[in-house]
Amino acid sequence: MSATHDVAVVGAGLAGMSAAVFAANRGLRVVQVGNAGALLFASGLLDLLGVHPMAEARGWIDPWAGFEALRRDLPDHPYTKLAAAQVRAAFGELAATLDEAGLAYTAPGERNHQVLTGVGTVKSTYCLPRTMQPGAAALAAGVPCLLVDFDGLREYSAKALAAGVGGRWPHLRTLRLTFPAPGVAGEVYAAHIALALEDRATRERLADLIRPHLGDARAVGLPAVLGITRSARAAADLTEALGVPIFEVPTMPTSVPGLRLKNALERAVAARGVDRRVHGRVVAVQRMGDEFALSVAATPAPVALRARAVILATGRFMGQGLTADRARVREPLLDLHVAQPATRADWHRTDLFDPRGHALNRAGVETDDGFRACDGRGAVVHPRLFAVGTILAHHDWARMKCGAGLAVGTAAAAVARLADELGPARSVS
Ligand SMILES: Cc1cc2nc3c(=O)[nH]c(=O)nc-3n(C[C@H](O)[C@H](O)[C@H](O)COP(=O)(O)OP(=O)(O)OC[C@H]3O[C@@H](n4cnc5c(N)ncnc54)[C@H](O)[C@@H]3O)c2cc1C
Repeated sequence: MSATHDVAVVGAGLAGMSAAVFAANRGLRVVQVGNAGALLFASGLLDLLGVHPMAEARGWIDPWAGFEALRRDLPDHPYTKLAAAQVRAAFGELAATLDEAGLAYTAPGERNHQVLTGVGTVKSTYCLPRTMQPGAAALAAGVPCLLVDFDGLREYSAKALAAGVGGRWPHLRTLRLTFPAPGVAGEVYAAHIALALEDRATRERLADLIRPHLGDARAVGLPAVLGITRSARAAADLTEALGVPIFEVPTMPTSVPGLRLKNALERAVAARGVDRRVHGRVVAVQRMGDEFALSVAATPAPVALRARAVILATGRFMGQGLTADRARVREPLLDLHVAQPATRADWHRTDLFDPRGHALNRAGVETDDGFRACDGRGAVVHPRLFAVGTILAHHDWARMKCGAGLAVGTAAAAVARLADELGPARSVS
């Protein structure tokens, strides 16, 4: 049994990592259980709000105007429990944290960026890795651009991308190269190329291969492979060598920008002294007097933890923060009340691509305004038991493009409420 922590964060996706960082920044003693593997699936883009209402597929250049419209239209959405200033500050704190951990993102501002994706669509996002920003600028200006891909990189095709984006970016040319590094041949993977591009000599060889094809291009787009730990350096070197801005295009999961995000957040929580139980999984949470006792399945032996508060950031079905059987959706760890359709027949609409989405995607845990989990009658289960991120009810983050905003904003609000709840005399035994 460990010493008592102020808070145990369960889960290490974007919501759990944000909660751990924000809590540690406020001087709380944090233990966090779970590995950050979920972040590998993320594109690296941080969305605030891209689409609302879903049925009209209405996009927003000004995400804050969309945020206010959503708050008026969807009284149950978790954003109705957050003020714009709070979410803005949370994004700022996250961006500063990532910057300090060596991963530069664009500053949270007033507008969404329009970004070309690896499948040839254009997506609205709020903050993006700096290595992608010149692509957003080139798309906005519609300047001639060269898109490069590599033999054997099956998940990314510059030609397919250019065809997909079509008239929205008319002056696109494409180029396929054999990646210039020994050992990177045949079927290649983004992470291998990214690793190879950590090496300056490889970057120079790549620039030499691209240079003869530049023509009138005023920007060059590559799949998101510009290094793993020093992506800013790799982008700067290639930009200097070619004389035009280089940018990354987000790729399919698992993605190198997702890996960078994972690595940077892991560095950030380590730097803040968060007690990380990376290889564990919480299998039970019980009340023990004024504290929570957490049982963690871990190798070589199970671990018992104590904490004065719990922040549940266990996500949805993929990470098993929610599970479903033939009859209903459950929250498996604490058996919390899950808001959901009355019957299974109501889970999905008949058309998979129905723009209004599916009711199942809005199932989840309900909370009070401070993100404390509530029971089926709306009563707070425990004053220091919080739920944050995608496990929450009444949103459809994938369709609304609000995944990061939900994770970061709710984590910040829960931590603020928790800090109030614990007060200045919190125990640090
Ligand atoms: C393919 C993909 C692409 C995405 N692209 C974008 C994008 O472009 N823009 C954007 O803003 N967002 C994107 N996101 C979403 C973004 O990553 C979410 O904001 C993020 O998933 C936040 O989710 P979360 O932290 O609530 O849950 P998750 O990311 O699901 O993390 C929850 C974690 O908790 C763990 N867990 C569950 N139960 C336990 C337990 N008992 N003990 C310990 N750990 C446990 C899970 O294993 C998981 O690792 C994407 C996500 C995916 C999957």
